Amino acid sequence: MTIAKKIKASISQSSMIRKMFEEGILLKKQHGADKVYDFSLGNPNVEQPEEFKRELINLANEIIHLKHGYTPNAGYHETRHTIAKKISKASGLKMHADHVIMSCGAGGALNVILKALLDPGEEVIVLKPFFVEYPFYIENYGGIVKYAATKNDFSLDIDSIAGAINEKTKAIIINSPNNPTGIVYSENEIAGLSRVLLEKGRALGKTIYLISDEPYAEIVFEGVTLPSVLKAYPNSIVAYSYSKTLSLPGERIGYIAVNPHIYEAGDLISALILCTRIMGFVHAPALMQRIVARLQDVAVDVKVYQKKRDLLCAGLAKAGYTFTKPQGAFYLFVHSPIPDDVAFVQMLLKKNILVVPGSGFGGPGYFRIAYCVDDATIINSMDGFTQTIKGCT
Ligand code: PLP
Repeated sequence: MTIAKKIKASISQSSMIRKMFEEGILLKKQHGADKVYDFSLGNPNVEQPEEFKRELINLANEIIHLKHGYTPNAGYHETRHTIAKKISKASGLKMHADHVIMSCGAGGALNVILKALLDPGEEVIVLKPFFVEYPFYIENYGGIVKYAATKNDFSLDIDSIAGAINEKTKAIIINSPNNPTGIVYSENEIAGLSRVLLEKGRALGKTIYLISDEPYAEIVFEGVTLPSVLKAYPNSIVAYSYSKTLSLPGERIGYIAVNPHIYEAGDLISALILCTRIMGFVHAPALMQRIVARLQDVAVDVKVYQKKRDLLCAGLAKAGYTFTKPQGAFYLFVHSPIPDDVAFVQMLLKKNILVVPGSGFGGPGYFRIAYCVDDATIINSMDGFTQTIKGCT
């Protein structure tokens, strides 16, 4: 066989979102793009803030020695210092530039963190439903994925997490605001998680790392606040991204923030910097590092996503669909009206509606709508959603 057996198996497992995406291209050719309602991908459709465009032009015109040269592997000190200052303010921790390592988005950050932490055979807990890439990322470094459940409303199930911990547990990954559910974990939930990780860690005589994947940190809706994981748990590491905050997923920029209270934090930081280099990232993109340092208080207009959420939730509820209303990100995880979510997604496809079966996220019986689309796509899809659910009764 030409390619590695493991990768061949991964290609066939990972095809659900990609398959919908490819179906979408075909349907758009057949019917025209405006007659196809594509909710399959989490690619932000809100424009970058004006400040981003202005700074990009400024930067292009500025004379900076080695503007496009290699940067330090951890990233520019000035950028890391600016980010550390912001995190210190939000968390009350004394973060320094050294605690921040620039990354190629949250995906790059997670891979660097897992490579730095995992010995083969060590376990990482993932909560169902999950971001589809987590199992691949963990297996990249010989780690074993250990699944834990969430409650019916997708909030943290501390008992299930406690039950998944054993002497092989190295870390747990959480993601809030969540892809695919849009749920935000409360301060109480994070405190409960912190307690159980400390208790279990103490009993087992080891450190259990809490990896908080936060690419949607800024996309939280009215009345909801995102608690600081760094403040709540000493052995925490944040994977942050500007992909959604500034609508820049193609530019691959984010960072890793290491809690200064982590035991042997210095060793971990050295490992993260080395891994950034030897995985071939070398460092995060230079221009983007300079730009995000200038845009720490800037984000896309979250109200735009909130309006889309409200439009979608109102329309689907009227049609008879049931779901937990999202508090952030731009995803809705809807109960499939029939038990077979894959079959229901095929029924929606007949109405030119593209969504992703929950099975792909470890959440069978649901489907995911990524509503980072034009309002017109949401409004014009409602007939198809309504007729399809009617066809199930
Ligand atoms: N984590 C989650 C939960 C995501 O939804 C995504 C992207 O959609 C990522 C990580 C990767 O994001 P990035 O573009 O920052 O690598």
